[in-house]
Amino acid sequence: MSLALVLNSGSSSIKFQLVDPTKHATDDPFASGLVEQIGEPEGKITLKYQGEKYTLNAPIPDHSVGLDMAFNLMGEHGCGIKDVDITAVGHRVVHGGILFSQPEIITDEILDMIRDLIPLAPLHNPANIDGIEVARTLLPDVPHVAVFDTGFFHSMPPAAALYAINADIAAQHGVRRYGFHGTSHEYVSSHVPEMLDMPAAAVNQITLHLGNGASAAAIRGGRAIDTSMGMTPLAGLVMGTRSGDIDPGIVFHLHRSAGMSIDDIDKLLNRDSGVKGLCGVNDFRDIEARIDNEDQDAWLAYNVYIHQLRRYIGSYMIALGRVDAITFTAGVGENAVDVRADALADLEGFGIKIDPEKNAQPNDGAREISADDSQVKVFVIPTNEELAIARYAVKLAEQQR
Ligand code: AMP
Repeated sequence: MSLALVLNSGSSSIKFQLVDPTKHATDDPFASGLVEQIGEPEGKITLKYQGEKYTLNAPIPDHSVGLDMAFNLMGEHGCGIKDVDITAVGHRVVHGGILFSQPEIITDEILDMIRDLIPLAPLHNPANIDGIEVARTLLPDVPHVAVFDTGFFHSMPPAAALYAINADIAAQHGVRRYGFHGTSHEYVSSHVPEMLDMPAAAVNQITLHLGNGASAAAIRGGRAIDTSMGMTPLAGLVMGTRSGDIDPGIVFHLHRSAGMSIDDIDKLLNRDSGVKGLCGVNDFRDIEARIDNEDQDAWLAYNVYIHQLRRYIGSYMIALGRVDAITFTAGVGENAVDVRADALADLEGFGIKIDPEKNAQPNDGAREISADDSQVKVFVIPTNEELAIARYAVKLAEQQR
């Protein structure tokens, strides 16, 4: 069996999966794990393989040591890089700027281009680059492929991609809407034409990636025409801990009147806002439990979340003119029955009607949840970004051969 190794390197962590690219979205990966607390006094590596979970606690000074230790742990349990046939390595790269619209085989030149994009993603791209460099050293004979979170939105028309700020300053500093979660929106939306039994080029659709991070996309004929995330993944929908859209004047106000530094405001909007900022918790299971206990803050947070979600759905219906399908995905979208019901409640006048029974079914793969007489079909399609990255990596590796 040939497998792809998929790496998602963060500033202090590396998520890894060994994936059989021929499997389905809901199948468990061949093996998966997490290297965490890199650079801290005590680090941790977890590996899941064949239903067992293995843990190793030890200091992990940097990404190179972390990945090496992860490979050793995999070797000890029979799924090391010498035990399995790895045909390609897929790397999740957060920012592809305007340089990358497609996944790319990583060469020194491509790596330099990803490095050039660091100013646009100062926290994410350096960590992605670390992961790529380490993995290329440890697996030098296998093709490495970069898959960009922004790639799917590269084709957005200028009217959707540009912000109405001074054009020279915007061009000089790369200020425009790039969009994120592109791998997920592309993966999920690619299943919809088949579910509708329509040619892909004819399908107008809205995809809602509702996880801890959340974004919406409007897609015409397989091409994204708008999305809710912006120059950074902070914009758009209300998220677990991120604010989503706010009046930019709030930043100046908090700086001038509350004496908060730019770093304080950055942390506030990225980590202490969203539903967590409003009610103290970011997990929708906790929010639902609190609402059941008549917690007013949780109720309010939920309503702010739904209100913003409906705003985006409405605006994308207008942008598309005709909508064939609306699809929910990611942790909240796949599991939170009430979120789906409330996001699309009372829209029969727009041809959208959810079937409550279908909507209440447990999450077990791609399914339709709209009523038979709903003009717009509503789907839940589990996302699997690692599988999508694995498929790209193997495809490009095969093309290179
Ligand atoms: P993701 O970022 O896609 O992994 O989504 C993670 C989020 O999904 C969690 O923070 C929860 O808010 C949400 N979630 C996961 N499982 C459930 C569930 N069974 N019901 C409601 N929300 C869920």
